[in-house]
Amino acid sequence: MAEQTGKKKLSLSVQIFLALFLGMIAGVLLHYAIPSSSFKDSFITEGVLYVVGQGFIRLLQMLVVPLVFCSIVCGTIATGDMKTLGKVGVKTLLFYIVTTVVAISIAIRIAQFIDPGVGIQLDSVEVADVVVPEDLSFSNTILNLIPQNPIKALAEGNMMQIILYAVFLGIALAKLKQQIPVVVSFFEQTNEALMELTNLVMLFAPAGVFCLICRTFANIGFGAFLPMLKYMGCVVLALFVQCFIVYPTLLATFAKLNPFRFIRKFFPVMTFAFTTSISAAVVPLNIETLCRRIGVSRKIASFTIPLGATINMDGTAIMQGVAVIFISQVYGVVLSSTDLVTVIFMTTVASIGTAGLPSIGLITLTMILTSVGLPTEGIALIMGIDRILDMLRTAVNVTGDGVCTTIVAKQNNEFDSEIFAQD
Ligand code: ASP
Repeated sequence: MAEQTGKKKLSLSVQIFLALFLGMIAGVLLHYAIPSSSFKDSFITEGVLYVVGQGFIRLLQMLVVPLVFCSIVCGTIATGDMKTLGKVGVKTLLFYIVTTVVAISIAIRIAQFIDPGVGIQLDSVEVADVVVPEDLSFSNTILNLIPQNPIKALAEGNMMQIILYAVFLGIALAKLKQQIPVVVSFFEQTNEALMELTNLVMLFAPAGVFCLICRTFANIGFGAFLPMLKYMGCVVLALFVQCFIVYPTLLATFAKLNPFRFIRKFFPVMTFAFTTSISAAVVPLNIETLCRRIGVSRKIASFTIPLGATINMDGTAIMQGVAVIFISQVYGVVLSSTDLVTVIFMTTVASIGTAGLPSIGLITLTMILTSVGLPTEGIALIMGIDRILDMLRTAVNVTGDGVCTTIVAKQNNEFDSEIFAQD
């Protein structure tokens, strides 16, 4: 009561948004207005901002594996039969794949129209070292979905293997529900506790978001942007089209929902993805937001969101599409239409099996470039300015997961329209 009559408390979403905004301003000021000194570098940027920001990311990551595992086990037990599970799974996969193909096609068209690589002087661009990727062949990508040792998969946070194992365990438990009710309720109650833990971690969000974004902007060399403005413009434009034209159209057509209300309610998730650049770390918040603010049933979201964080990366596909055109133009290589189809196929495959982590898109890009005979050294050109694009595309990655999940939930009558209508 005392709280209501006193100062009105800002909601967590508003606090997070303010933290993002103020963090950007503080970061730019720190970069330009405060001269470099050991106090600024060691105590502020690499001290307080680094520790609080990374501490918050670690808290988010701490939630992911147990929450994903338990909620998928519980979701599968609740769904019960293989038929419903299969139906939801196939529909979700289809949406994830189609949105990725649409995303990359838009990116390629925009890049072909703007020609970001034409007229680029190689010596005007900051070049970084290229990371050599691990084996990303098609057959290994498929085989790596199956866990040889589920404990190892949990310990390493291998999302696809965890999902697969949790679904299998859930199916087994659904069959034995009557015989072993204690085991079933153990998972259900642990799941409740983990959701409460998520709420607890969210209390640190404003401080974490502020420090992460402030440090990023304090460290970014804006000078490196200039020669790359056309490339960056292409990526940003394609991300914008995907997020504010393609997704709203899909929501309005397939789920008959107001897309603006969706984006407004979903905004905190996008903010988290933007600040952390790790879609895998945003999984718990994404599930909570879809269930509590949008109206998706937990059964669906707890299964499709971890899946999406691993296999659905529309924003990453967009960067890769633009990067392929950019690098081909810089090196004067003409790509045939068969090459472009190969790029679309390889980009879609590349997003399967690699969990959303910072700059993972640059690593899988090597596999795409190789598939059409482009030099992988081209990646060095875009590495220097990738940080900011990584933030933007991660926000689009998680929005894609949220949109597909909402559509699948709505079409399977696993959606509460009253929750969606509430403010
Ligand atoms: N950072 C992105 C994510 O976590 C992946 C990438 O595009 O590099 O979704």
